[in-house]
Amino acid sequence: MEETSHDPTRYDHNQIELKWHERWNSDPNLYKADVDSNRPKYYVLEMLPYPSGSLHIGHLRVYTIGDALARYMWMKGYNVLHPMGWDAFGLPAENAAIQHGRHPHEWTLANIAQMKRQHRRMGFSYDWDLEIATCEPEYYRWNQWFFLKMLERGLAYRKKALLNWCPECGTVLANEQVVDGCCWRHESTPVEQRALEQWFWKITAYADELLRDIDEKLEGHWPDRVLSMQRNWIGRSVGSEIDFKLEKTGERIRVFTTRVDTIYGATCVILAPEHPLAASLLDEAGRARAKQMIDNRAQQERGDVEKDGHFTGAYALNPYSGEKVPIWIGNFVLMGYGTGAIMAVPAHDERDFEFCTTYKIPIRPVIRPVDGALDENPKAAFTEDGVVEKSGEFSGLPSAEARGRMNQKAENQGFGKAAVTYRIKDWGISRQRYWGTPIPVIHCLKDGVVPVPENDLPVVLPIDVQLTGKGRSPLADVPAFVNVKCPKSGGDARRETDTMDTFVDSSWYFYRYCDAHNSSAPFDSKKIAEWLPVDQYIGGVEHAILHLIYSRFFTKVMRDIGIIQNAEPFARLFTQGMVIKDGAKMSKSKGNVVSLDEMSERFGADTGRLFELFAAPPEKDMDWTDTGAEGAYRFLSRVFRFVTRNMARTGAGDPAADRRALRKLHQTIQKVTEDFDNRWHFNTSVAALMELINRLYDEEAGLSGAALGQILPSLSLLLGPFAPYLAEELWEQLGRKGPVFRQPWPTFDSALAKEDAAEVVLQVNGKMRGRMFVPFGTPEDELKKLALADPKVQPSIEGKQVVKVIAIPDKLVNIVVK
Ligand SMILES: [Zn+2]
Ligand SMILES: [Zn+2]
Repeated sequence: MEETSHDPTRYDHNQIELKWHERWNSDPNLYKADVDSNRPKYYVLEMLPYPSGSLHIGHLRVYTIGDALARYMWMKGYNVLHPMGWDAFGLPAENAAIQHGRHPHEWTLANIAQMKRQHRRMGFSYDWDLEIATCEPEYYRWNQWFFLKMLERGLAYRKKALLNWCPECGTVLANEQVVDGCCWRHESTPVEQRALEQWFWKITAYADELLRDIDEKLEGHWPDRVLSMQRNWIGRSVGSEIDFKLEKTGERIRVFTTRVDTIYGATCVILAPEHPLAASLLDEAGRARAKQMIDNRAQQERGDVEKDGHFTGAYALNPYSGEKVPIWIGNFVLMGYGTGAIMAVPAHDERDFEFCTTYKIPIRPVIRPVDGALDENPKAAFTEDGVVEKSGEFSGLPSAEARGRMNQKAENQGFGKAAVTYRIKDWGISRQRYWGTPIPVIHCLKDGVVPVPENDLPVVLPIDVQLTGKGRSPLADVPAFVNVKCPKSGGDARRETDTMDTFVDSSWYFYRYCDAHNSSAPFDSKKIAEWLPVDQYIGGVEHAILHLIYSRFFTKVMRDIGIIQNAEPFARLFTQGMVIKDGAKMSKSKGNVVSLDEMSERFGADTGRLFELFAAPPEKDMDWTDTGAEGAYRFLSRVFRFVTRNMARTGAGDPAADRRALRKLHQTIQKVTEDFDNRWHFNTSVAALMELINRLYDEEAGLSGAALGQILPSLSLLLGPFAPYLAEELWEQLGRKGPVFRQPWPTFDSALAKEDAAEVVLQVNGKMRGRMFVPFGTPEDELKKLALADPKVQPSIEGKQVVKVIAIPDKLVNIVVK
């Protein structure tokens, strides 16, 4: 005989989820935040994804965490904004176009459609009406508008500079995109240096504020790890700028040092090989050596290259001692840090010690330990502060005081000053690629750089373009794009053909969500005042510097333009752990990917979501295993069966069973609520729900209709943030009106939650046979007697010899039989 097609007592995830999927999709306003709400606002946001193709289980975690939070906050009475969109410009689309002959726009939109379908299948609570794709002119025209604002405020400038060039990408990279000397996209491709005319944004103008607000606004609300990465990246150091003079011409060489107190120990000056003065001091052989050092920069950043130096033949004068010191070039001196020139004090700096030892440059100690003598023949650099010696009028002063006085003297005599320097450099935003926002300027022979007038925005990216992927922007080969009239003089001019770094797109998208359809401004400032800052931002720690520094910079610029009031974009940041399978991060290249479609077909969206939250605390990595997913599925089946077979029950039960079940229910509500409000340890929330279901199965026979009338609806509500499909189905079967996420979160009754009896586990030969409840502090003898008489234990000991009974008060009795 054939099986019946649908068994209503069986948990059929496909039947339930597809039914609700259809209903939810047919209601476009379901997850819309209320307009003019009296509820407090809550803006929860997951980092916007790059539409690379299909989603897999590894992608799921961040959205699952965000969605659980969004649903919980609705239930707690907040007006929740929970949008989603697409970081749709970028190189992979262009490379796919070159490899497969598909247009980047078409490729990107197809991927967006695919991923959006998958997001919907997972049941995430996004307001899709606010969806944005950064590759559309309605969005990127505001990138161009921001560019013009930066230009107006002197925050955008153009200069020829040595830049990081990835030969594989065929474009320039920002400093933030160089990882250990290699491209962030191509781990084994060393980055080269190329001299190019580029647009920069002056993020350095905000270095101080970016640093200060880490302490004043973000500390305690963002992960410490992210904040310390940002501090290091900004890299503030306090020191002095001092001018050495070129012996022959008197030309000044400005050096930056944090240890001016050691300056009497300076035995040479070292220039970066790119330093403008180096070329004029070096002969032909020397210039070749300089070029070689520059070419080796990328390997050097990976630590593969030894310190390398070359004597220029010229000398400089120490402005304090008047002493003549040789001028070298050295590969470890960087043009972008400080002034591109240093004084070498080998006795008090490890790097200088190594360099000067190699090249037999004298080592002259001038700092002694506070409680010791000056070491005249040091075997290593003494790098701590101490007392200054052999330093003319400054001898005998402690280091800190000497620095103050020396800076003062430099300032009085006009050869230097106290100075702060930063490691962070201005953001190079030009890219020689196609699939990005056109930079809105025009080059005119007569007028130079002329901004595109605001009224002429957007400068639309032409669709009909030949993509080569190498060397220069393909836009340069589109005459209709390039050849324009100058907006100033009306004469012939050329349009800029570089596009913007795609990190520009993601620096402000979370503002656009608040007013996604605005066609006359990036957004209405009133709406921003209502929603920003983002209350909770969630994403990967790999964005600790790039995206998260740029977004902070953009926010500060927007505030200074006067269109927003908040100084920081994200009040709280959470970085989730990775999804691991077979010992490695889930990724296409590792071949350990579980597709989302396959998973939801087999187990359902609820199981996938629940398991991702249950397997580990959300900040830790989690292992995806089939057995784990099966466990989550079994739990949901148990919930389904319990609710459906008990929902019609009425009548009286055992008051003690009711009391125990209700106590467990209220303990669970308390536990889950605390997990949400504190550390988001959803793994323990789900474990608590599992324990609750176990208890309900134990007490099932004794429960009254009245108790079930409290328990079953509460159980559905508790399940809402974790398994929304099943929660909604059960809620409806219980005769309630949805949606679940709009119901108030259940409150716990602490009197009901309080234990009045100890729960003692009963074991026979170590195997659990049941539980019993006894007054706290019941003595061991009494426990043993009760356990041996317990009906749950009887079948396992009947006809056997009891060898031993072990009792642990308030906890456990184990009966050993033979
Ligand atoms: Zn690359
Ligand atoms: Zn002109």
